[in-house]
Amino acid sequence: MKAFEYTRAADPAAAVAGFRPGDMYLGGGTNLVDLMRLGVAEPERLVDVSRLPLDRVEAAGDGLRVGAAVRNSDLGTHPLVLARYPMLARAVLSGASGQIRNLATVGGNLLQRTRCPYFQDVSKPCNKRRPGSGCPAVPGDHSHLAVLGHSEACVATHPSDMAVALAALDARVHVTGPAGSRVLPMPGLHRLPGDEPERDTVLEPGELITAVELPPPPPGRSAYLKVRERASFAFALVSVAAALDVGADGTVTGVRLALGGVAHAPWRAARAEAALLGAPAGEESYARAAEAELDQARPLPRNAYKVPMARNVIVRALKELTP
Ligand SMILES: Cc1cc2nc3c(=O)[nH]c(=O)nc-3n(C[C@H](O)[C@H](O)[C@H](O)COP(=O)(O)OP(=O)(O)OC[C@H]3O[C@@H](n4cnc5c(N)ncnc54)[C@H](O)[C@@H]3O)c2cc1C
Ligand code: SF4
Repeated sequence: MKAFEYTRAADPAAAVAGFRPGDMYLGGGTNLVDLMRLGVAEPERLVDVSRLPLDRVEAAGDGLRVGAAVRNSDLGTHPLVLARYPMLARAVLSGASGQIRNLATVGGNLLQRTRCPYFQDVSKPCNKRRPGSGCPAVPGDHSHLAVLGHSEACVATHPSDMAVALAALDARVHVTGPAGSRVLPMPGLHRLPGDEPERDTVLEPGELITAVELPPPPPGRSAYLKVRERASFAFALVSVAAALDVGADGTVTGVRLALGGVAHAPWRAARAEAALLGAPAGEESYARAAEAELDQARPLPRNAYKVPMARNVIVRALKELTP
């Protein structure tokens, strides 16, 4: 590992003011330190933001404000999260392992990097790691990679489960940086690869995530379903964050759907939502809505299985939520 300096920021303003080229913020280090060991990340200096006073989960009216330094395990087990946003609790607790969740922070989870095998192997070309060097995943192993929104330059997926639930819940991410503070919608923090796959998000250098704000929960019931290769310690092949509200006449009056494991960013299934609103609640409508969304999928030869898998997981999640 390349030698680096380490400093701990006292507060968000100091972290941003002291940020210089070559610095990287350090959360729990559960992704960044691995990437440093692999030679994928080579910061000159780590600015530790894991102990900033951003470690509270607080009610904000009927919504919630979550500090960026809140540990994943504290978020997933917080009484207010369990009571108001069970979908978010399930998403967070489905990620990684207990030990990793104890260290991992909200800010770091949102900004963790793709697990594309070529991205993590510095002996291979990769447009995300070294722009212009090529994408060996397209002709090679893309079995876990994207079927929606990808480009010729990159077919990576975003790995965070939490981000998928936040996209379904219309969360807002608060950031502060050298040019001031701003609020980014979810989805909206992460970007599709286009011809700049080296940029995972819309953040500018030195911008620090300070909090995530959740509006009041959507009406009805919600769930997070994740399909993976083993029961723990595995990223989603496909996941679905879903909320469903059904009126007295049996039609869908409210729906939220977001997909994980299928794109470079958490994927809000807007077409499926539009197809479902006002439709009779039931398997036929759910399958039609899933197909409306997945019509735009462009699978590669070794990940075509994700399209029927996503369809089935959407239908199953909605059926589970149907009263
Ligand atoms: C074996 C294994 C399995 C896993 N499985 C899953 C899974 O199934 N689902 C899942 O969602 N995750 C999974 N994870 C990922 C784990 O959840 C992440 O490693 C973790 O959430 C990253 O959080 P961190 O605080 O440790 O981030 P760090 O590693 O410290 O940082 C990650 C990135 O975020 C940046 N950063 C950190 N905090 C801030 C901030 N406040 N503002 C701006 N930038 C910041 C850092 O500079 C770095 O680029 C797994 C990890 C491992 C090792
Ligand atoms: S899919 Fe993206 S991250 Fe993976 S090798 Fe291609 S450019 Fe790199």
